[in-house]
Amino acid sequence: MTCRHLAAYAAGCDTAFTVDASRVTFGRGALAEAGDRARALGMRRVALFTDPRLRALPWFDEVGASLAAAGLEVIVFDDVAIEPTDVSVDTAVRFARDARPDGYVSLGGGSVIDTAKIANLLTTHPAPLRTYVNAPLGDAQPVPGPLAPHLACPTTSGTGSEVTGIAIFDWLEHHAKTGIASPRLRPSEAIVDPRTTTTLPAAVVAASGMDVLCHALESFTARQFTQRAAPAAPSARPMSQGANPWSDLGCREAMRLAGTYLSRAVRDAADTEAREQIMWAATLAGIAFGNAGVHVPHAMAYAIAGRVRTFSPAGYPSGPIVPHGMAVGIGAPAVFARFGAYCPERHLEAAALLGADTHGATPADGGALLARQVIELSRTIGLPEGLAGVGYTSADVDDLIAGTLPQQRLLANAPCTVDSDCLRELFSAALTYSG
Ligand SMILES: [Zn+2]
Repeated sequence: MTCRHLAAYAAGCDTAFTVDASRVTFGRGALAEAGDRARALGMRRVALFTDPRLRALPWFDEVGASLAAAGLEVIVFDDVAIEPTDVSVDTAVRFARDARPDGYVSLGGGSVIDTAKIANLLTTHPAPLRTYVNAPLGDAQPVPGPLAPHLACPTTSGTGSEVTGIAIFDWLEHHAKTGIASPRLRPSEAIVDPRTTTTLPAAVVAASGMDVLCHALESFTARQFTQRAAPAAPSARPMSQGANPWSDLGCREAMRLAGTYLSRAVRDAADTEAREQIMWAATLAGIAFGNAGVHVPHAMAYAIAGRVRTFSPAGYPSGPIVPHGMAVGIGAPAVFARFGAYCPERHLEAAALLGADTHGATPADGGALLARQVIELSRTIGLPEGLAGVGYTSADVDDLIAGTLPQQRLLANAPCTVDSDCLRELFSAALTYSG
């Protein structure tokens, strides 16, 4: 069955899509614009969010100097946890409530930007954290109004958090990653300076690059926006609205760039062309998935990362931890191999954009070809091999399924119905990709 055929089933489904994108300034040296841009957003008293590693790097001093030169008062919060939890987020919220800033500047990876989004939300519209958290773990209440201005400056080429309305954290008592999704959470503006990637360890470029690639691949192979039930009111159209012509644009270019440059960017920190192109791919893929939504590899990843026992990769703070991009890449080949049947042309096109030899292939080969291409790229950039590579065995599959089923926002965005039997097949296939 092709996507086109599925679209014909669209009675009662949506007929329009919405384009959302925050303002982005991209280029080498752009961090020097932080002060002028923050002031133009109306900020006078800025909460500058970062993490301890970033604080010691020149990018922090550069942004701080730019904010000071613009006459802004700056209060620093540098205690953001990598892979934030409800506990670390609560510390950030208490800081923001005490500091009373009129705007936020975040400098760091997705963990820093997401923490700033939640601190801004819970300071501007005070409520317990669970109020806005996605169902079924949270109450999924809509954000009642605009937030304070937020200027996001990403320093990893991965999450795309600077252009999305999504914030993810680890809810410790539930042993699950979950989050908040609202267009109100999208930063007002982003400054993307590819110089920041020169200080990234290769392992971080590899994991975050796989995240970029999966944002593009999942948004491109998600259900079509015309297959989702029409919203009760136009303003209630979800951000995970499904694949659409706007998200397809960013996805195709991000896939092509990742296929061309990711292995080079991992291999050589001095390859500024490759690292800059992956930063641009991350921005494009972020805009795309912020308008389409990702699906099952991300849902599986939250269980894989949330239930880690002992895995501790090089290049990251001491574990146990399965970095987000690494967790996403583990389930992805199994998902594409199985879901290729639902939109085969798209899987075949994605494989070709990643550099697969598709000569003589038919759309029916698309899922298998794409899975193989993702596995080979993972190996080239040194990511772990399947679930076994991060310490899981077949005895963990039930637990991983239980951790994935609550991710309904993501599972519903897949091109087919995903139940526990489907997840069992996927996790079993993802145990190892060798052989
Ligand atoms: Zn991601």
